[in-house]
Amino acid sequence: MSTSSKLSRRRWLKTVAAVASGVAVLPFLKRTAQAAPIKVTKAIAHYQDQPSGGKMCGTCVHFIPAGGKAGHGMMGGAMGPGMMRPGLCQVVQGRVSPRGYCLLYQPS
Ligand code: SF4
Repeated sequence: MSTSSKLSRRRWLKTVAAVASGVAVLPFLKRTAQAAPIKVTKAIAHYQDQPSGGKMCGTCVHFIPAGGKAGHGMMGGAMGPGMMRPGLCQVVQGRVSPRGYCLLYQPS
């Protein structure tokens, strides 16, 4: 692991710790989540199994539908067979519902 990636990981961990303590760093987390070397817990991301308004995992750029990324999006993923089964998230640990939502949501 290079020095820069160690620093990046350290910075990410500090950010996650700040989120856990309630500090408003959500914009930073959203900017860096895709390059994150680790995933955050559902609790830190404030994950819920229900959508928030029209926002849901099935329409989030971080969602990996059951069966993989192929077909991702409303037509291939959210409205296709992958919509019904829990998938994975690139930035949040564990299985997530296509109808779930968290604070790291980013529209696809
Ligand atoms: S858990 Fe959050 S970041 Fe992951 S797919 Fe769902 S809304 Fe997006």
